[in-house]
Amino acid sequence: MSTDLHVHGLAHTGPPHTVEQLWPYVEEAQKQGLMELGFAEHDEYLYGLDFRVFEELARLSPIKIKKGLEVSFRPERCDLKAIASRPWDYLIASVHDIGPWGFDSPGGRSFYADWDMDELYFTYFDLVARAASTGFFQIIGHLDLIKLYGHKPRRSVAELAEPALRVIAQAGVAVEVNTAGLYKPVGEIYPSVELLQRCFELNIPVTISSDAHNPEEVGRSREKAVRLLKRIGYTQLVTFRERKLEVVSLK
Ligand SMILES: [Zn+2]
Ligand SMILES: [Zn+2]
Repeated sequence: MSTDLHVHGLAHTGPPHTVEQLWPYVEEAQKQGLMELGFAEHDEYLYGLDFRVFEELARLSPIKIKKGLEVSFRPERCDLKAIASRPWDYLIASVHDIGPWGFDSPGGRSFYADWDMDELYFTYFDLVARAASTGFFQIIGHLDLIKLYGHKPRRSVAELAEPALRVIAQAGVAVEVNTAGLYKPVGEIYPSVELLQRCFELNIPVTISSDAHNPEEVGRSREKAVRLLKRIGYTQLVTFRERKLEVVSLK
Protein backbone atom coordinates (compact mmCIF):
# COMPACT_ATOMS: atom_id res chain seq x y z
CA MET A 1 0.00 0.00 0.00
CA SER A 2 1.40 3.36 -0.93
CA THR A 3 1.87 5.46 2.16
CA ASP A 4 3.75 8.58 3.18
CA LEU A 5 3.86 8.84 6.97
CA HIS A 6 6.08 11.85 7.58
CA VAL A 7 4.70 15.10 6.22
CA HIS A 8 4.95 18.58 7.74
CA GLY A 9 1.82 20.57 6.98
CA LEU A 10 2.87 23.51 9.15
CA ALA A 11 6.55 23.48 8.26
CA HIS A 12 6.96 27.04 7.16
CA THR A 13 4.08 28.82 8.78
CA GLY A 14 3.52 27.09 12.11
CA PRO A 15 -0.01 27.08 13.53
CA PRO A 16 -2.91 27.75 13.00
CA HIS A 17 -3.57 24.13 12.17
CA THR A 18 -6.48 24.19 9.74
CA VAL A 19 -8.04 21.96 7.10
CA GLU A 20 -7.28 24.66 4.51
CA GLN A 21 -3.58 24.58 5.41
CA LEU A 22 -3.33 20.78 5.15
CA TRP A 23 -5.62 20.22 2.18
CA PRO A 24 -2.99 20.87 -0.58
CA TYR A 25 -0.95 17.98 0.90
CA VAL A 26 -3.95 15.68 0.60
CA GLU A 27 -4.53 16.77 -3.00
CA GLU A 28 -0.90 16.11 -3.89
CA ALA A 29 -0.96 12.70 -2.18
CA GLN A 30 -4.04 11.77 -4.16
CA LYS A 31 -2.40 13.00 -7.38
CA GLN A 32 0.59 10.78 -6.60
CA GLY A 33 -1.69 7.78 -6.13
CA LEU A 34 -0.93 7.44 -2.42
CA MET A 35 -3.49 5.58 -0.34
CA GLU A 36 -2.47 6.95 3.02
CA LEU A 37 -1.02 10.24 4.20
CA GLY A 38 0.37 10.72 7.69
CA PHE A 39 1.03 14.16 9.13
CA ALA A 40 3.93 14.34 11.57
CA GLU A 41 4.52 17.94 12.59
CA HIS A 42 7.56 18.94 14.61
CA ASP A 43 6.69 18.72 18.28
CA GLU A 44 7.48 22.40 18.74
CA TYR A 45 4.02 22.96 17.19
CA LEU A 46 2.32 20.55 19.54
CA TYR A 47 0.57 23.41 21.34
CA GLY A 48 -1.09 24.47 18.08
CA LEU A 49 -2.36 21.08 16.87
CA ASP A 50 -6.09 20.55 16.82
CA PHE A 51 -7.25 16.93 16.66
CA ARG A 52 -10.62 18.07 15.29
CA VAL A 53 -8.72 19.18 12.17
CA PHE A 54 -7.46 15.62 11.64
CA GLU A 55 -11.00 14.31 12.08
CA GLU A 56 -12.44 16.79 9.61
CA LEU A 57 -9.65 16.08 7.14
CA ALA A 58 -10.26 12.33 7.43
CA ARG A 59 -13.95 12.92 6.75
CA LEU A 60 -13.27 14.98 3.62
CA SER A 61 -10.26 13.13 2.27
CA PRO A 62 -10.50 10.43 -0.40
CA ILE A 63 -7.41 8.77 1.10
CA LYS A 64 -6.62 7.66 4.64
CA ILE A 65 -5.27 10.31 7.01
CA LYS A 66 -3.03 9.42 9.92
CA LYS A 67 -2.19 11.48 12.99
CA GLY A 68 1.49 11.38 13.79
CA LEU A 69 4.04 13.63 15.44
CA GLU A 70 7.79 13.97 14.93
CA VAL A 71 9.33 14.26 18.37
CA SER A 72 12.85 15.63 18.68
CA PHE A 73 14.42 13.17 21.08
CA ARG A 74 16.66 14.49 23.81
CA PRO A 75 17.40 12.21 26.76
CA GLU A 76 16.57 14.90 29.30
CA ARG A 77 13.03 15.40 27.98
CA CYS A 78 10.46 14.66 30.62
CA ASP A 79 7.29 15.39 28.63
CA LEU A 80 7.23 12.20 26.54
CA LYS A 81 4.57 10.54 28.67
CA ALA A 82 2.30 13.57 28.38
CA ILE A 83 2.84 13.74 24.61
CA ALA A 84 2.14 10.03 24.21
CA SER A 85 -1.12 10.31 26.13
CA ARG A 86 -2.78 12.08 23.20
CA PRO A 87 -4.60 10.09 20.48
CA TRP A 88 -1.84 9.68 17.90
CA ASP A 89 -1.64 6.90 15.36
CA TYR A 90 2.13 6.94 15.82
CA LEU A 91 5.04 8.94 17.22
CA ILE A 92 8.29 9.33 15.27
CA ALA A 93 11.49 9.70 17.29
CA SER A 94 14.08 11.87 15.59
CA VAL A 95 17.50 12.80 16.89
CA HIS A 96 18.29 16.34 15.71
CA ASP A 97 20.49 17.42 18.62
CA ILE A 98 23.65 16.24 20.30
CA GLY A 99 23.62 18.03 23.64
CA PRO A 100 23.14 21.71 22.87
CA TRP A 101 24.13 21.28 19.20
CA GLY A 102 21.29 21.13 16.69
CA PHE A 103 23.46 19.52 14.04
CA ASP A 104 20.89 19.74 11.22
CA SER A 105 19.81 23.29 12.04
CA PRO A 106 20.98 26.31 10.02
CA GLY A 107 24.58 26.98 11.03
CA GLY A 108 24.94 23.51 12.55
CA ARG A 109 27.30 22.23 9.89
CA SER A 110 30.39 24.08 11.07
CA PHE A 111 30.44 22.24 14.42
CA TYR A 112 31.21 18.93 12.75
CA ALA A 113 34.82 20.15 12.73
CA ASP A 114 34.89 19.84 16.55
CA TRP A 115 34.28 16.09 16.45
CA ASP A 116 36.05 12.88 15.72
CA MET A 117 33.63 11.27 13.25
CA ASP A 118 33.66 7.81 14.84
CA GLU A 119 32.91 9.40 18.19
CA LEU A 120 30.15 11.54 16.67
CA TYR A 121 28.44 8.63 14.93
CA PHE A 122 28.74 6.52 18.07
CA THR A 123 27.21 9.30 20.20
CA TYR A 124 24.45 9.90 17.67
CA PHE A 125 23.45 6.23 17.43
CA ASP A 126 23.52 5.94 21.21
CA LEU A 127 20.83 8.65 21.32
CA VAL A 128 18.83 6.76 18.68
CA ALA A 129 19.03 3.62 20.83
CA ARG A 130 17.88 5.54 23.89
CA ALA A 131 14.91 6.93 21.95
CA ALA A 132 13.91 3.43 20.77
CA SER A 133 14.14 2.01 24.27
CA THR A 134 11.77 4.56 25.85
CA GLY A 135 8.73 2.62 24.63
CA PHE A 136 7.00 5.83 23.51
CA PHE A 137 7.85 5.64 19.81
CA GLN A 138 6.61 3.54 16.90
CA ILE A 139 9.05 4.81 14.25
CA ILE A 140 12.65 6.01 14.18
CA GLY A 141 12.91 9.03 11.87
CA HIS A 142 15.75 9.42 9.36
CA LEU A 143 17.89 6.77 11.09
CA ASP A 144 21.27 8.09 9.91
CA LEU A 145 20.53 11.83 9.72
CA ILE A 146 24.00 12.52 11.11
CA LYS A 147 25.37 11.90 7.57
CA LEU A 148 23.39 14.75 6.05
CA TYR A 149 26.40 16.85 4.98
CA GLY A 150 28.35 13.80 3.81
CA HIS A 151 30.71 13.35 6.79
CA LYS A 152 31.81 9.73 7.05
CA PRO A 153 33.23 7.80 10.01
CA ARG A 154 36.40 5.72 9.63
CA ARG A 155 34.76 2.63 11.06
CA SER A 156 31.84 1.09 9.19
CA VAL A 157 28.53 2.82 9.85
CA ALA A 158 26.85 -0.57 10.23
CA GLU A 159 29.25 -1.44 13.04
CA LEU A 160 28.66 1.88 14.79
CA ALA A 161 24.88 1.54 14.40
CA GLU A 162 24.70 -2.13 15.39
CA PRO A 163 23.88 -1.61 19.09
CA ALA A 164 21.11 0.85 18.16
CA LEU A 165 19.72 -1.51 15.51
CA ARG A 166 19.57 -4.31 18.07
CA VAL A 167 17.67 -2.10 20.50
CA ILE A 168 15.28 -1.03 17.72
CA ALA A 169 14.67 -4.67 16.73
CA GLN A 170 14.18 -5.72 20.34
CA ALA A 171 11.75 -2.86 21.01
CA GLY A 172 9.68 -3.67 17.90
CA VAL A 173 10.12 -0.14 16.56
CA ALA A 174 9.96 0.55 12.81
CA VAL A 175 12.56 2.45 10.80
CA GLU A 176 11.46 4.91 8.16
CA VAL A 177 12.97 5.01 4.71
CA ASN A 178 13.08 8.77 4.28
CA THR A 179 13.69 10.14 0.79
CA ALA A 180 14.51 13.69 1.96
CA GLY A 181 18.19 12.73 2.21
CA LEU A 182 18.32 12.61 -1.59
CA TYR A 183 17.88 16.39 -1.56
CA LYS A 184 20.52 17.08 1.13
CA PRO A 185 24.28 17.45 0.49
CA VAL A 186 24.77 13.71 1.17
CA GLY A 187 22.38 12.90 -1.70
CA GLU A 188 21.28 9.56 -0.21
CA ILE A 189 18.11 8.10 1.20
CA TYR A 190 18.06 7.76 5.00
CA PRO A 191 19.11 5.14 5.98
CA SER A 192 21.96 3.93 3.77
CA VAL A 193 21.77 0.62 1.89
CA GLU A 194 24.10 -1.10 4.35
CA LEU A 195 21.98 -0.06 7.33
CA LEU A 196 18.78 -1.11 5.60
CA GLN A 197 20.30 -4.49 4.82
CA ARG A 198 21.05 -4.94 8.49
CA CYS A 199 17.49 -3.80 9.38
CA PHE A 200 16.19 -6.50 7.05
CA GLU A 201 18.38 -9.16 8.67
CA LEU A 202 17.10 -8.09 12.08
CA ASN A 203 13.44 -8.17 10.90
CA ILE A 204 12.99 -4.48 11.59
CA PRO A 205 9.77 -3.25 9.92
CA VAL A 206 9.92 -0.21 7.65
CA THR A 207 7.77 2.71 6.55
CA ILE A 208 8.33 5.05 3.61
CA SER A 209 8.23 8.81 4.00
CA SER A 210 9.07 11.97 2.14
CA ASP A 211 9.53 14.31 5.14
CA ALA A 212 7.74 16.85 2.91
CA HIS A 213 7.89 20.43 4.12
CA ASN A 214 5.59 21.68 1.36
CA PRO A 215 2.85 20.03 -0.70
CA GLU A 216 5.01 19.54 -3.82
CA GLU A 217 7.35 17.29 -1.83
CA VAL A 218 4.69 14.76 -0.80
CA GLY A 219 5.66 11.27 -2.00
CA ARG A 220 8.79 12.52 -3.74
CA SER A 221 11.22 9.85 -4.95
CA ARG A 222 9.00 7.23 -3.35
CA GLU A 223 9.59 4.83 -6.24
CA LYS A 224 13.34 4.90 -5.42
CA ALA A 225 12.62 3.84 -1.85
CA VAL A 226 10.34 1.05 -3.07
CA ARG A 227 12.98 -0.22 -5.52
CA LEU A 228 15.67 -0.11 -2.84
CA LEU A 229 13.56 -2.03 -0.34
CA LYS A 230 12.64 -4.69 -2.92
CA ARG A 231 16.28 -5.11 -3.87
CA ILE A 232 17.14 -5.74 -0.22
CA GLY A 233 14.36 -8.31 0.11
CA TYR A 234 11.55 -6.44 1.81
CA THR A 235 8.05 -7.36 0.60
CA GLN A 236 6.06 -5.47 3.21
CA LEU A 237 5.74 -2.06 4.77
CA VAL A 238 4.05 -1.15 7.99
CA THR A 239 1.73 1.59 9.04
CA PHE A 240 0.14 2.37 12.39
CA ARG A 241 -3.36 2.95 13.66
CA GLU A 242 -3.77 4.11 17.23
CA ARG A 243 -0.16 2.99 17.73
CA LYS A 244 -0.88 -0.57 16.61
CA LEU A 245 1.31 -1.85 13.83
CA GLU A 246 -0.39 -2.92 10.61
CA VAL A 247 1.46 -4.79 7.87
CA VAL A 248 0.72 -3.73 4.29
CA SER A 249 2.17 -4.78 0.95
CA LEU A 250 5.23 -2.95 -0.36
CA LYS A 251 3.99 -0.69 -3.13
ZN1 LIG B 1 13.55 15.44 11.39
ZN1 LIG C 1 10.49 15.78 9.56
